[in-house]
Amino acid sequence: MAVNMDEKVAPIFQEVLNRNPGEIEFHQATREVLESLGPVLVKHPEFTHHKIIERICEPERQIIFRVPWRDDKGEVQINRGFRVEFNSALGPYKGGLRFHPSVYLGIIKFLGFEQIFKNALTGLPIGGGKGGSDFDPKGKSDDEIMSFCQSFMTELYRHLGEHTDVPAGDIGVGGREIGYMFGQYKRITNRWEAGMLTGKGTDWGGSLVRTEATGYGATFFVDEMLKARKDTFGGKVCSVSGSGNVAIYTIEKIHELGGKVVTCSDSNGYIYDEKGIDLVLLQQLKEVERRRIKDYLQYRKHAQYVAKGNIWEIPCQVAMPSATQNEINGADAEMLVKNGCIAVGEGANMPTTPEGVKVFLDAQIAYGPGKAANAGGVATSALEMQQNAQRDSWTFEYTEKRLQDIMKHIHELCYETAIEYGTPGNYVNGANIAGFIRVAKAMVAFGVV
Ligand code: GLU
Repeated sequence: MAVNMDEKVAPIFQEVLNRNPGEIEFHQATREVLESLGPVLVKHPEFTHHKIIERICEPERQIIFRVPWRDDKGEVQINRGFRVEFNSALGPYKGGLRFHPSVYLGIIKFLGFEQIFKNALTGLPIGGGKGGSDFDPKGKSDDEIMSFCQSFMTELYRHLGEHTDVPAGDIGVGGREIGYMFGQYKRITNRWEAGMLTGKGTDWGGSLVRTEATGYGATFFVDEMLKARKDTFGGKVCSVSGSGNVAIYTIEKIHELGGKVVTCSDSNGYIYDEKGIDLVLLQQLKEVERRRIKDYLQYRKHAQYVAKGNIWEIPCQVAMPSATQNEINGADAEMLVKNGCIAVGEGANMPTTPEGVKVFLDAQIAYGPGKAANAGGVATSALEMQQNAQRDSWTFEYTEKRLQDIMKHIHELCYETAIEYGTPGNYVNGANIAGFIRVAKAMVAFGVV
């Protein structure tokens, strides 16, 4: 597919390709942002002068380390740990940790790069970073998870701190893992430093709404896109992929707003429940019993389970990919549009390939890219940090209201920026440009650092 880049930006992208061989997801993420930036350099020649784009594409620091641990049989296992501290212009590095066998440097760099702009869009004081490991939590016992998390933190702790770098969860890292890592950090440093990790348990420094925040936020964002088109969720058939915390709370909020979600999935297959996904059942299976979604059928006999199928073949009006990167390709996007999909909100990071994004933009449907639509998770992490700094904890209602206001603001910012730069309705440009400008201005102010 042809890269569509301004002549000033194209050589910078070429340099990214040369300097980071084989990191295809990182190439994809940088390409998507850089394709939006040509017109920004025309309005802001100082960004060219200060080489802001070149600098923003190079992480400030990349840490790669060995994570040895012992499994239940007493055997030693070795994994690889990563933390990419990408950009600290707007605040301490902030971004989740992903534990998944697909993790390598290219994945962590794509996530860290996106995180810079996502975090900037929230308007809150957080820089961008990401980390994780190729450790596979699937099928591991509690003891094994704990041993891995403790070993991981034994190396990473020296790079972290409430004013330095503040990780959180991502795929494979939830409340349990955050607990083990916080405990290990506390033990090594002898500091009860709440603000060094977010997604903590609500009994020990966590924020209410953090668990729900990414899903709720993505749904609020789609609701705003629909409102901008004088439409609502009311009565709409919606398709959600995934069955982790993003998917679960997306389903909950869509149901609250009057839509009907008919799908969910895991890496083995998807569920189609035409009567609407039974959220209580899904939560019991996934959050309490940590089972596979196939088991949904044991309790909802009318539903269908399709092993290894393509979830996007189910017709829907709103699609919310909430599983992982590149889960919607060009053909999937065409199928969605052909079947009547009018809005897409990305709960996952970069779930749509460049070919898919082009289909959505050409069809002029409401397409909310991840770095805008799923920013509610990290925004609520920043609210957790605020509560920690105040040694306070806010109510669910107040925190949810703050999240909703932030998502409204992000929508407005992307919407207005897209108009200002001559591409009304294009939230990809809106998000990339608005996020970039905020970081770039801070970098100019700081000089060559
Ligand atoms: N992993 C989430 C994301 O992709 C949340 C990060 C955080 O809360 O720091 O934005």
